[in-house]
Amino acid sequence: MTDRIAIIGSGVAGLLMAEQFFSRGWKVHVYEKSPSLAETSVACSYVAAAMLAPYCELEKAESIIAEWGVASLPLWKELIERWCPEAGSPIFGTFAVAFNREAGELNRLKQSIDKFDPQAAAWINSNKIHEMEPDLGSKINRALWIPQEGYLDGSLFLQTIAQKLAEKGVVFHYGVEVKKIYSHTIETAQKKETFAWVIDCRGLAAKQDLKNLRAVRGEIIRVYAPEVHLKHTIRLMHPRYPVYIVPRNNQHYVIGATSIESASDRTITVLSTLELLSAVYSLHSGFSEANIISTMVGLRPAFPDNIPKVYCDKGLMIVNGLYRHGYLVSPFLSQTVANHCEGEAITPQSKLRGRMELTFTTLEMNRFFPRELKS
Ligand SMILES: Cc1cc2nc3c(=O)[nH]c(=O)nc-3n(C[C@H](O)[C@H](O)[C@H](O)COP(=O)(O)OP(=O)(O)OC[C@H]3O[C@@H](n4cnc5c(N)ncnc54)[C@H](O)[C@@H]3O)c2cc1C
Repeated sequence: MTDRIAIIGSGVAGLLMAEQFFSRGWKVHVYEKSPSLAETSVACSYVAAAMLAPYCELEKAESIIAEWGVASLPLWKELIERWCPEAGSPIFGTFAVAFNREAGELNRLKQSIDKFDPQAAAWINSNKIHEMEPDLGSKINRALWIPQEGYLDGSLFLQTIAQKLAEKGVVFHYGVEVKKIYSHTIETAQKKETFAWVIDCRGLAAKQDLKNLRAVRGEIIRVYAPEVHLKHTIRLMHPRYPVYIVPRNNQHYVIGATSIESASDRTITVLSTLELLSAVYSLHSGFSEANIISTMVGLRPAFPDNIPKVYCDKGLMIVNGLYRHGYLVSPFLSQTVANHCEGEAITPQSKLRGRMELTFTTLEMNRFFPRELKS
């Protein structure tokens, strides 16, 4: 059991944990209740726009999210180079923009970013915008340019890395729902198994055990817009209809996202569709001729303070509440969790343990120690 690890869930949290432990030489088992890789596409991670935007998120998020996000950016570059080089560098830069009447929103974002890192965002004028992103057109005469942000094609990356990890020896148990979780132990309908560590990455499905976990509904629309030629993520700052446009290949775009306090996973509403599409049309009239390829709804797992948590007990880690930031922070979280597990596994009584717990406390983790989770 000493070098075996069980990861429950194959969303972005679970797969990046699997990658991290596999790369350190552990024998990794991933349990996923969906019957196949393709069918995990209902999970939140396969709906996400997968922006890596630590600075723009400061609009609403705590600075700890930006810290974890900034720490994750170089890790993302390494992950992509190693596992999915065809995806190219994920860092392209973001334009944050606003219409004149909402200029205050953009100023507020700049102030929040400046408090965190005065070098991260710079004002650019209409000439420069025209040069860098000509399609933003005449409606925008001032933008914030944030070069160290980016995005990736989340589904492509997760599917690629899952396949490659499986080829290299990570064991994926698809169609297997973990019914019970204890320290070192999981139970499925078929059997009970022990591991050095169990890492619970079930996302919102863990709500039955983590009572303060809630769903925040997010809706996105994927379009093909042959008349639109945007290269970077565009964040439109607006008090009521904040919206982002994330480019994919061949003039496909992801338009998102709503943020609604609801656990309903029913299809996108007419109101959300109107709001998202009106906002992008007001930015670029070429979206009027776009074809809607798909609409998707995901339920983000969130704690009351919207900060991810890692709860740990002997032989068990629970990683959850990734809210709007699962892609942004998962590389940092997986590294931190693996460091902690290795410290304990190698030297259970070591003095290092105290230092690591301190680190976890500083990271707002380790507040809850479950003994046994109910099925
Ligand atoms: C519209 C939208 C846009 C978003 N955009 C971004 C973005 O741009 N950038 C960003 O960083 N984040 C974004 N997010 C947030 C991000 O998607 C989430 O934070 C992240 O996906 C959460 O990942 P997870 O692995 O914790 O959970 P999930 O993706 O939900 O994965 C959990 C997995 O566990 C499996 N599972 C559950 N229970 C069991 C069980 N008992 N046994 C076995 N398997 C089980 C599930 O089937 C699932 O595959 C967005 C979210 C939404 C909805």
